[in-house]
Parts: sequence; structure tokens; C-alpha cells
Amino acid sequence: MIYADNAATTKMSEAAIDTMVKTMNETFGNPSSLYEVGQKAKEVLEQARADVAAVIGADPREITFTSGGSEADNQAIRSAAALGAKKGKKHIISSAFEHHAVLHTLERLRQEGFEITLLDVHENGIVLPEQVEEAITDNTCLVTIMTANNEIGTIQPVREIGEICRKHGVLFHTDAVQAVGHIPIDVKKDNIDMLSASAHKFHGPKGVGFLFAKKGIRLTNLIEGGAQENGKRAGTENVPGIAAMATAIREADSRMEAYAAEVSRKRDRLIRGLREIPHCALNGDERCRLPGNVNFCFEGIEGESLLLLLDDKGIQASSGSACTSGSLDPSHVLLAIGRVHDVAHGSLRLSLGEDITDEDVEYMIGAVKEVVEYLRSFSPVWRDLMAGKGEFIL
Ligand SMILES: *Cc1c(COP(=O)(O)O)cnc(C)c1O
Repeated sequence: MIYADNAATTKMSEAAIDTMVKTMNETFGNPSSLYEVGQKAKEVLEQARADVAAVIGADPREITFTSGGSEADNQAIRSAAALGAKKGKKHIISSAFEHHAVLHTLERLRQEGFEITLLDVHENGIVLPEQVEEAITDNTCLVTIMTANNEIGTIQPVREIGEICRKHGVLFHTDAVQAVGHIPIDVKKDNIDMLSASAHKFHGPKGVGFLFAKKGIRLTNLIEGGAQENGKRAGTENVPGIAAMATAIREADSRMEAYAAEVSRKRDRLIRGLREIPHCALNGDERCRLPGNVNFCFEGIEGESLLLLLDDKGIQASSGSACTSGSLDPSHVLLAIGRVHDVAHGSLRLSLGEDITDEDVEYMIGAVKEVVEYLRSFSPVWRDLMAGKGEFIL
């Protein structure tokens, strides 16, 4: 079996599992309790906060633990909106190809009276800093642009966008869920005010993540209750999950350079191999992309059928994103970069992890070629195109 869906989730690392089990066994206390087992749990929690903060260049006090990336996105955006509304600033800028955790939160805010600008994304999958600057008005309270896209893997010019936001006194949030643990991030150098991350995208456990918010930014509680997390997020902390997340992020950080070199070499080989298939196109910029991301559109086929046949061949991949699979709408990300509906339906994302071997890569190239050819052999759309009825798009 070849697991090539690391953008959907990653397998927990051995070290993260060890930390989790050890914490469950040895540090089961409630961090809010004053007796010894409680205080031990508190120490584990604060050490994890320091570890996470160190990896992104933050102060531990700027880290709030959450249930994952979605919650961090919601809290960041809701907080900036509340701060903006107090000053009468109710305009938010984002992009059309954000994760639904961002887009759906913005849609709610639109219903609540905010003005939302969703920037178009260039066909290479990159938002330009100039676009952001042009969209900023006196009423803008927040710019939220992801660090790297979850479907097509393109990396955004976060530092430049952050610089523009600083210049105009606008808060800048970035959904860095796909980026943390995969590419270097430094919240200070990158001019980031708020950042969301999720452990299960960097070999940590599911259901745990964090929100970085620069000192001085007042967060809005999404969950009311006790005074945990400095009063910003009620509920007894997920101590084993948080400790395991800290182990995973330290591990990912220490291996980052070697991982990027190795995995991007395999990615590039996979891209070269798949490009030999007629009438296909790589989605997103070839250079500015995450080390493990490969995303193609193939004309004349359905992504869903492609996935099922690849699954039969032992390859686990994705078409669109996990969150939208099961619905018949093509991916909003592919539409945002200008792919037409028919072409967007025939997409395939292979997201590689460190465990992928060179042989796996060759096997995947062969399998995708075979399956695409097979599906085209009885596709009416493909037959028409080959008969000269209609024009090839790719
Ligand atoms: C996975 C993902 C999320 C959601 O994170 P969860 O921890 O699953 O809630 C948000 N944004 C991006 C870009 C993602 O890839």
C-alpha cells in the first residue's frame, strides 16, 4: 500500500506516539489542579507551549492550544473581526482558494454585516502582494491568506503580504496548517500577527492544534467556561495530544531541510513522469510549492473513478480535498485558479511523505498512466475530443 494523501492527514510518528502514551500513563492529572500530578501535567503543558513557540519564533505566551486548524482559523478571524468592529472597521480581505474553515467563517461574518473581499488567485496558484495592497481600504481590519494551499501546494508570498499589512496597520492572519513542519516559518521575520496550525498535518495526533496571536492581540473566546489557556479557550487541556504535538513539531523542525530535499526530488520525478500523459496539466506553480505536493488535471476523465482504480492498485490519493469529496461540485481551489468545471473534475492530488521510496514513485507513474488510459478508452467526452468534436482544453 502506498499512502500518498499526506495533505489530508499524516501518520503519527513513533516518537509522538511514545510521548502520547507516556503522558497518558504518567501525567494524567488536570493541569488546573494544585497537587503534584496536576502540577506535573501543567509542566508538560508549558514545556509543549515553549517547544511549539520556539519552532515558529514566537513567545510561549503567544500560543493558545486548540482542537486543531479549523478552530484556530475560526478563533483568529472572529477575534480580528471583533477588534475591527469596535473601531467601526468591518472589511476583511482573503482569497478565493482558502480552506473552508476560513471561507465559511468569512461567509458567516458577511451575514453578520462584514464586507468580505475574496481576491482572485493567479492561474499559477499564487496571490500577489500588490493585489492585497490594492484591496486594502480605511475600513479593512484583517487580511487572511494561507501560507500554503492544501490542494495544489502553492506557497504564498506571506512575508511580503505581512509587510504590506504592517504598513497599513491591518492585522494579518495566515492559515499555515499545510506549512508548519514542512517549510520554515518565523512569525517575526514573516510579519505574521496570527497563525493557525494543526498537529495531524505534521505527524502529530488529530484533534489538536494551536493559534499564535502576537502579544497585545485580544482573542475572542469561542468556548466559554473555565480560565484555561489564559481565559482564551475553556475546557481541560488535551495534555497527551498537546505533548505529542510538541514532540512532532520538534522532530519535523529538526528534519526539515533533509525532508524538503528528499521529498521534493521525488515530487519532481513524479511530476516529470506524469507530464508524459497526453492532455494533462500540473496545477499550481512548479517551483513555489510544498515539497510533497503533486496535483494534476487530466482531460476527459472523472477524478473519482481515477481514485477508485488507483485504490485497487494500492495507491491512496485524493481528488479535490477530503472535505469536499463526496460532493459533486468540483474543487473551489481548481475553479479559483481558472480551471473550467470539466477539467477540474479530472483532478488528482498525490501528497508524498518521507516514507515514499523511489520505487513507489515509479510504480505510481506507471499506475496513473495505465488508469488514465483505461478510463479514457470508454469516456464519451474523450471519444468526442478524439473524433474532433470539441476542442482540447489541456
Ligand atoms: C487540514 C487543514 C485545516 C483544518 O485543520 P483540522 O485540524 O483538520 O481542523 C485547515 N486549513 C488547512 C489549509 C488544512 O489543510
